Amino acid sequence: MTQYTVINPATEQPVTTVTHASAEETAAAIERSARAYESWRAVAPGDRGRLLRAFAAEVDAHADELAALETQNSGHPLGAASWEAGQVRDVLTYYSAAPERMTGRQIPVPGGLDVTFAEPLGVVGLIVPWNFPMPILSWGLGPALAAGNTVVAKPAEMTPLTAMRIAELALDAGLPEYVFQVLPGKGSVVGQQLVDHPAVRKIVFTGSTEVGQQIMAGCARHIKRVTLELGGKSANIVFADADIEKAAATAPYAVFDNAGQDCCARSRILVQASIIDRFMELLEPAVQGIRVGDPAAAGTEMGPLISAAHREHVASYVPEGAPVAFRGSAPDGPGFWYPPTVLAPVRTADRAYTEEIFGPVVTVTPFADEADAVALANDTPYGLSGSIWTGNVGRAIRVARGVETGNLSVNSHSSVRYWTPFGGFKQSGLGRELGPDALDAFTDTKNVFIATD
Ligand code: NAD
Repeated sequence: MTQYTVINPATEQPVTTVTHASAEETAAAIERSARAYESWRAVAPGDRGRLLRAFAAEVDAHADELAALETQNSGHPLGAASWEAGQVRDVLTYYSAAPERMTGRQIPVPGGLDVTFAEPLGVVGLIVPWNFPMPILSWGLGPALAAGNTVVAKPAEMTPLTAMRIAELALDAGLPEYVFQVLPGKGSVVGQQLVDHPAVRKIVFTGSTEVGQQIMAGCARHIKRVTLELGGKSANIVFADADIEKAAATAPYAVFDNAGQDCCARSRILVQASIIDRFMELLEPAVQGIRVGDPAAAGTEMGPLISAAHREHVASYVPEGAPVAFRGSAPDGPGFWYPPTVLAPVRTADRAYTEEIFGPVVTVTPFADEADAVALANDTPYGLSGSIWTGNVGRAIRVARGVETGNLSVNSHSSVRYWTPFGGFKQSGLGRELGPDALDAFTDTKNVFIATD
């Protein structure tokens, strides 16, 4: 039995100790989940929907508690953590309507009646990263349960607390035992067992592209279904005809939200050369105005990084002599703080320009015209999100179609909206979560022909 001490990243103080599951305990949990699946899939659709709504209500009733716990565990500003708890409630509510609407099709065929069924898969393994513990858990959990699957979730080592509490709330809401289990533990132990165990029929993995590749290879051994949500290096493209004031005022939040620990971070700002000086003049006060500090204090916009090791990694992108254009502030003293940092000019071969930093560091690069902007945006193995700022509707549409990325916003920085599909192009992932079609990722189509002759 291994004990893991959870640390508050804003204070460096221990929060609590969590017992990590072993490979054997994980296998036992998967087997319990497989048994629970037999009865969960048989729960009438209306009753499954009602249970999911009760679960959502239980999360809502404990939203303040969950938000405070996330602030302690992950250092997220309280306002952001409240939104995250609300996202769990909303995703569960959205998918609670699904069980009663999972209609198949009737397909005209000669000699009989042909119908399709969307059948659940069985046990689903959810492997969750540390950057958004609550929302990412819910994106897999809501549709998986709605479709009739059972779930074994593994939170990231550093951030298990909200997932563990949400599993208790599921039981309090009346979900049958073992329909949803949370197993804190190491990726190489619990995560690996989820990938290897034949009773797990689907893996939803969110994390680094590197680990995602290993997971995909592991799933191949069992032809296990897999959804991958991986890294990003997204562009925020600002054209000369945009509302430059608004583009500059919002750009910091598109990359420094969650201290840059966001797969959708627009960490490359591409600005049309003719307006780049004006843009930088406007960006500087916007970056310096970000309120960085105690995540539990009202009004804080940016908290600390998750760990000392991660801060060291982020800092490696800003070595002595790096082209720092300007920086925001960060508290002194304990906590894994790192100030919002703007690098310019950078060469397109620089690590800071090509690699996912996953911290509050952004590069600003000029472009000549529309074709140049699209080419620069696409010059990355990733393709997760991005923004386009322009006053020209035709250009917005042309560029949106040209950029190879899964989630774009025009004159805004929205990425994840639970009503709409979310996922990556290229090495940013495989498959889509959320939106009306998410159930497809948790079901297989069964075709049944009934002879009438
Ligand atoms: P990570 O890949 O190190 O870990 C993610 C999860 O996988 C953790 O729970 C970890 O314990 C587990 N894991 C690690 N090794 C494993 C193995 N061999 N087998 C099974 N599970 C294993 O990622 P991280 O550092 O926690 O998260 C940061 C990364 O996540 C970034 O690259 C970020 O872009 C990405 N991310 C992507 C999205 C998206 O939706 N596309 C969302 C959030 C984060």
